[in-house]
Amino acid sequence: MDIIIWLITALALSWFMTYTRASLSSFTFLFLILMVVGTFMNVIGFISWLLFSVIAIPLNISNIRIPYITKPLFLIFKKIMPEMSQTEKEAIDAGTTWFEGELFRGDPDWKKMHNFPIPRLSAQEQDFLDGPVEQVCALVDDWQTTHEMADLSPEVWQFLKEKKFFAMIIKKQHGGLDFSAYAQSKVLQKLAGVSTVLASTVGVPNSLGPGELLQEYGTKKQQDYYLPRLAKGDEIPCFALTSPEAGSDASAIPDTGVICHQKFEGKNVLGMLLNWDKRYITLAPIATVLGLAFKLEDPEHLIGDEVNLGITCALIPTHLAGITIGRRHFPLNVPFQNGPTQGKDVFVPLDYIIGGQEMAGQGWRMLVECLSVGRAITLPSNSTGGIKTAALATGAYSRIRQQFKLPIGKMEGIEEALARIGGNAYLMDAVTTMSTGAIDLGEKPSVISAIAKYHLTEKMRASIIDAMDIHGGKGICMGPNNYLARGYQGAPIAITVEGANILTRSLIIYGQGAIRCHPYVLAELQAANEHDTEKALNDFDHALFGHIGFSISNISRSLWCSLTGSHLLSAPFGDQTKRYYQLLSRFSANLAMLSDVAMLSLGADLKRKERISARLGDVLSHLYLASACLKRFNDEGRQADDLPLLQWAIEDSLFNIQTAVDALLCNFPNRWLARILSVIIFPFGKWLTKPSDNLDHQVAQLLQTPCEARNRLGKWQYLVRDGKNVFGILEQTLEDIIACEPVFTKVCLAIDKKLPFYHLDKAAELGLAANAITAKEAQLLIKAEQGRNAVISVDDFDSKELIAWNSNVIDKTKQNKK
Ligand SMILES: Cc1cc2nc3c(=O)[nH]c(=O)nc-3n(C[C@H](O)[C@H](O)[C@H](O)COP(=O)(O)OP(=O)(O)OC[C@H]3O[C@@H](n4cnc5c(N)ncnc54)[C@H](O)[C@@H]3O)c2cc1C
Repeated sequence: MDIIIWLITALALSWFMTYTRASLSSFTFLFLILMVVGTFMNVIGFISWLLFSVIAIPLNISNIRIPYITKPLFLIFKKIMPEMSQTEKEAIDAGTTWFEGELFRGDPDWKKMHNFPIPRLSAQEQDFLDGPVEQVCALVDDWQTTHEMADLSPEVWQFLKEKKFFAMIIKKQHGGLDFSAYAQSKVLQKLAGVSTVLASTVGVPNSLGPGELLQEYGTKKQQDYYLPRLAKGDEIPCFALTSPEAGSDASAIPDTGVICHQKFEGKNVLGMLLNWDKRYITLAPIATVLGLAFKLEDPEHLIGDEVNLGITCALIPTHLAGITIGRRHFPLNVPFQNGPTQGKDVFVPLDYIIGGQEMAGQGWRMLVECLSVGRAITLPSNSTGGIKTAALATGAYSRIRQQFKLPIGKMEGIEEALARIGGNAYLMDAVTTMSTGAIDLGEKPSVISAIAKYHLTEKMRASIIDAMDIHGGKGICMGPNNYLARGYQGAPIAITVEGANILTRSLIIYGQGAIRCHPYVLAELQAANEHDTEKALNDFDHALFGHIGFSISNISRSLWCSLTGSHLLSAPFGDQTKRYYQLLSRFSANLAMLSDVAMLSLGADLKRKERISARLGDVLSHLYLASACLKRFNDEGRQADDLPLLQWAIEDSLFNIQTAVDALLCNFPNRWLARILSVIIFPFGKWLTKPSDNLDHQVAQLLQTPCEARNRLGKWQYLVRDGKNVFGILEQTLEDIIACEPVFTKVCLAIDKKLPFYHLDKAAELGLAANAITAKEAQLLIKAEQGRNAVISVDDFDSKELIAWNSNVIDKTKQNKK
């Protein structure tokens, strides 16, 4: 009996120690006490003491542990770890880790997340959003831009320059607006709701490009010259990295710069002879200054011993001899300025390198650092803005449009698609707010930016397809009245740029996330690359034993969470959200355990097993997306009306996590391990489901009914009711239709006939004739009918009008030549 009591106590205390991540020395101390107690209870004898001593003494005395345990393991580790190229190292080192680190480590501190400050707009930023941003939204005619001119109008270009839209990231001292990342995101969201061309044109110079690079790395002389000119729009920048031969594998660019002496502006100077062939470069056709990435070589050792200096970024005025620029690509009927450029033997002085000669060869590091910020802002914000506006518009349309004598939004099939749009819009806004908030706290969140870029552009594509389906033919027929089709057509652009999505999911999110967020892996890798052997062994020893304790703890946590249904985990709130915190904590522990098992069992192969990496990345991503929703809900004052949106977003994320874990286990190469992991994670099987039909119904109704929660969903989008803005017309008509329905019913009752819900003006006449309604009520019916007609109408054209604008131009040019 004593031995059973001793064993149970030992097991319970060991579990407690692993769960709470006790150190090796505390663990040893605990066992020492257990051994002493066991000796008094006569259940521990000489053999047990011997065993304890053989394990505990070498583990706790570093002079024995390091040479006899750590060193052999270190040598094995060095052998199995993949070689890392310099560019890989720089990509992994880029940026910082933030709350995603907590989610990766198995025990997220929710209070810490809720204590991050709520992002706010300054008075100047709010004025800009209410002033110039509204004005430019009113100025842009997206049909004219995309179909007739294949460009923004000259007035819009002038307005954008004058109001400093291209200078949101430039510091005030250089004449810029110096907006927070959060404010930039809100500006882009509003623009994106109106025109993709407009949002892309404004987004790019404020994202990765000469402005950002100059500000971070430029010399004072470069900053003083270029930044004020960029701020005023006197210079139009672009950034050229991608080559025909180097797309995703951008570090393989074949473009070169060779250091040599040549004449430049009449003087013999030390400079670079550049040759490049780039494509897909946004703003290149109209750019005056080209940020160019190329590989710099110094074959004559004019600046040092090294021949291949590596990727370098320079600013090249586009008027120089040898440059070809101006032709355009035509990206998916969303004709923002984008095109190729070539340079043949273009010579520039060395001080054209961004940051001067000392930044020669530092280009890749500069790019990945800047990308870790930019990727969290432009594309996620543009995607979010597009879907926020589409959510309101589609909700309104579903309420206004009737078939089978019912608003289509009352049909369950439509509710399912509407709920996806609403839930995603809520989540996307939460993610952009939390991620840009991190940037404003001084973070460069490279893993978060990859998560936000991938998932928000994917959600945008899925949601715009849902919106198109709900609109039926109205979404298909193009023209000034179609507010969805350009977003639908352009969706794959966001998927492709700034790291194509398949690559981002398969390689970047988890590849970078695992190494950056793991508390010990980076230290182990760094130790493996350390030249000082003694330091390397000491560092590795520290990381290794920390890692072992961490792994055991995550297994212990995972098992405990599974057996208790994670009901005993603490949560910062005891309301409807409590369960979400518990389940996210549980999956966080699972992720930490799965990561270690995958790294240990697959070693260097994990890099090649992209689908394993992608699924682990999915778990990390959905943990982050759901956390952002919880933060948003709290930051917005825990509004009960928003609960359906929050619940939908989180339940969808939780289901996606479960699916990713299940798919990972089904495909895990080591089947024995997979079975054990399956028992630990899903001892009672999978139990989470997609958001229920009832929840779908609640979200769908929320999108179709004017209310505070719906207003919050569309906050700061361009919804002005000036009679011209199609989104304003939709909002007004939604209200009018709802308001006139009781009047319409009164008419039907008075004339004892169930009229169809159209020709409401005729219903008004009948109601007045029957003395059933007042003149004011009749007016309401007439107004609602006008709005309804405007909303359901589609454009039609004379055949000649449909001939593409450029054919007209070509025809005219031909006629002129004749
Ligand atoms: C409209 C537009 C604007 C752009 N603007 C700019 C700009 O301003 N400046 C600039 O320098 N570049 C720009 N780009 C380039 C853009 O960033 C690249 O297109 C992008 O990096 C992808 O390269 P690629 O098109 O050659 O595709 P590829 O590299 O050929 O990729 C093809 C497919 O393979 C996948 N893939 C590649 N490697 C892997 C892997 N290891 N694992 C899994 N899948 C993989 C990709 O995800 C993609 O789906 C722009 C591109 C477009 C289309």
